Order: sequence, then structure tokens, then C-alpha cells
Amino acid sequence: MPIINRIAEFHADMTEWRRHIHENPETAFEEFKTSEFVAGKLKEFGIEVHRDIAGTGVVGVLHGEGGPTGRAIGLRADMDALNMEEANSFAHASKVPGKMHGCGHDGHTTMLLGAARYLAETRNFAGTVNFIFQPAEEGAGGGRRMVEEGLFTRFPCDMVFGMHNWPDLPPGQIVVKEGPIMAGADQFEIKVAGKGGHAALPHHTIDPIVIAAHIITATQTVVSRNISPIESGVISITQVHAGSAYNVIPEEVILRGTVRALSHEVRELLEKRLRHIVETVPVTFGSTATINYRRGYPPTVNHGGAPHELATQVARKVAGEDNVLNNVGPSMGAEDFAFMLQERPGSYVWVGQGGSELGCLLHNPRYDFNDDIMPLGTSYWATLVETALPKAA
Ligand SMILES: [Zn+2]
Ligand SMILES: [Zn+2]
Repeated sequence: MPIINRIAEFHADMTEWRRHIHENPETAFEEFKTSEFVAGKLKEFGIEVHRDIAGTGVVGVLHGEGGPTGRAIGLRADMDALNMEEANSFAHASKVPGKMHGCGHDGHTTMLLGAARYLAETRNFAGTVNFIFQPAEEGAGGGRRMVEEGLFTRFPCDMVFGMHNWPDLPPGQIVVKEGPIMAGADQFEIKVAGKGGHAALPHHTIDPIVIAAHIITATQTVVSRNISPIESGVISITQVHAGSAYNVIPEEVILRGTVRALSHEVRELLEKRLRHIVETVPVTFGSTATINYRRGYPPTVNHGGAPHELATQVARKVAGEDNVLNNVGPSMGAEDFAFMLQERPGSYVWVGQGGSELGCLLHNPRYDFNDDIMPLGTSYWATLVETALPKAA
């Protein structure tokens, strides 16, 4: 029984919901219409709705047949779109200039709504399921804010689960992984101080461009020389700003970039080494630099044990043994479900959606969520609840 028949029956309804959300994208903490839509659907299904968490966040609470048992799990979907212009011209393309569902969160929201509808109809489980619809996954930390505003104290969950569509995998496949699956992501800005002057008289200046070049080069040694070759990390300098003329040495250079790591230890080390380089390299040129290092999302680390075994068992049940992969490497992208996994044991899976060969990549202006995978993703959620919270035999 891979796909649940009842869920397949409302595939057309889900496609309509998904395209409605896609047409009306809203970004970080401004998911007003989207959360209204989600809350409306949950109420329609007879589910208890809470809307006063993390601004536009919504939590639906549903008990199984016999009412609460003290056991509960959380299923999480993200609702936000991206600040980017959609290049698609199909009927359900974004109606909002400069905003687009380019990461498939329209599909994630819809699949969780589909599971809520099925589970409210059937209630074939014992305990409580919390449907968590979070705002602002794309960089603004809606998941962190939900946790800070008491998500797991107000809605206790023994375990929490997440899902993301994955264009690099064909439809029908699911990746279940123990350990790190997405990287931690931090940002930094470095200001290199110099002494500006005439480009023909460099000996009267301190050239911050030369110092910046040495900083850029030195940072390349951190990943290659300071962390174990078995571990992974990234330091990318992505912006260099300086200068205004051919014949003027500027006063200052600004460098910006990002740091990624799959473990807390590597993340700490990368930050420490980067700070050290910024503090020491300019000294050798008689100058100084400062760094503003901002911690972003931590690494998303799936727990082993019960949540991993559950996710694996359920994925195999709905997708078939051969379609469940556990040997795919992690992604250096980041995900704020990480904050929920820091609080509760759980597992985050990738569901294949295909299309990468056609340029349908996450955050690409031609991306679109593949509606064909909704019965599988929704069946995964529903089966996960029935398996994690079984009725007494
Ligand atoms: Zn994204
Ligand atoms: Zn995403």
C-alpha cells in the first residue's frame, strides 16, 4: 500500500490549493493571506487552530480517536516565498512582482494540509499530532522564533519531523539520513582600514586593497589547512567593495561572505580562524581590520534512534524499499528546521521531485513545485502519524 487511496482521491483539490498559494507568494513574516488560507482549511477539516505564534505561524492540533494520550508528534511545513522574480509564464505563475515560491514551500504547506485533512477524517491513531506551519524559513528564522515563543511547551511533541522537495532526485524517491543533512550558515562583513592617497605615490598610503587581497588569500587556507580533510566546511567571500577612481588608493575595503559547516565543532573553528586572520594579517601591513560575524542557522542534524527508524520504515512503506536512499551526501544549503531539531528528536527528509535536468532548481526563476509528488509526500506524513502513534492492537 504505497500511496493512501483516500489521499490520491483529493489530489486535484491539493493541486488547486498549491497553485493558489503559488500565485500569491508572501515572504518572511508577511504570510498573512497564506496563514489565513491554512487556518481556514484546518478549521474546515475540524482541527483546533492556534494563530498567535511567531507572527504569521499557525499550529493545528488534532487528537486521535480516543482523545489525548500524553503522546504527541509535530509535523512541520514552511509557508514563505522568496524575493525574486518568477520567469515562468504558466497560468499559476506569481501575481506578485518580485516575489516567487521558488523553493516549493507552497507544496510543503499543501502536503501538510492534505495530511491534516486525511487524518482528521480517519483519526486512525492514538495521541496528538501538531501541524506546524512556520513563517520565514528563507533566512529570517521563523522556526527559531516559533521555538522561542514556546512552540514545544505550548504544543508538546515527543518528536518532530520535516520535509523538503529535492529537484536532484527523481519523483518517487525519498532520502532519509542520520546525522547532518544541511549545513549551518553564518554571514560576515570585514572592514579593512587603510590610508588613502594618490595611486602614483603608494609610499604615502596604506593600501587597503592589497591588505584585503592577503585576507582573501589567507581565508582560503582555513578549509584546506585547518579542518580535517574528512570534515566539510566553506568560507566564501562573495563581495568586495572599494575604490572610485583609476588613480586613487581608497581609505577602506569592505568584504562580505558566508561560512558553512556541517558540525558545531567545524563551525566554531571556522569562525575562530577567520577572526584571527582578520585581526592579524593587517597588522603586518601597519593597519587593522574589523569583522562583524553574524550567526545564522545552525547545522540541521537528524537524530538517530527512534525518529530515524520511523522515518526509514515509513518512507520504505510509502515509496518502496528501492526508492529510499540513505547514502546521499548532505547539502551545504541551510534550513531553520535545525532549531526545532535542537529542541526535540526528529528527522528531516528530502522527497524527490525531479526537474533539475530542465533547470527546475531550487531558487531558480524557472522553478515550480511538482504537483505529481503530493500524494507520496502526503501519504508519508499520514503514515508517519499512524506508525508513530499506533492505536492499541
Ligand atoms: Zn529555499
Ligand atoms: Zn526551502
